[in-house]
Amino acid sequence: MHEIAVANRIIEEAKRQKEDVRALKVEVGELAEISAKEVEEALKQMVDWEVEVGFVESKIKCSCGFEGRARIVDRGHGYCVFNCPDCGASGKSMSVLEGGEIKIVGVG
Ligand SMILES: [Zn+2]
Repeated sequence: MHEIAVANRIIEEAKRQKEDVRALKVEVGELAEISAKEVEEALKQMVDWEVEVGFVESKIKCSCGFEGRARIVDRGHGYCVFNCPDCGASGKSMSVLEGGEIKIVGVG
């Protein structure tokens, strides 16, 4: 249950930021290992806080010059494989500018 581990990390971090958490806002990138929906469901099962999960579209910069949304090649439970829609490169030839992570944007 990978999303439980991810949700646990988010919950621990939220508790570090505020002692008595009531509301939590999280952003899940398109290229993160877990989808926004999975994160939301896991969080709602684990805490009774007001949980809001937003989705962030990806943005990559490739060595070929392409800059924009990544192409998702394969997505499964706990992983996401993507490449450059222009030249097909993946991995080290590109950098993820946006949408590559799961982060807390608000604790209330
Ligand atoms: Zn490229």
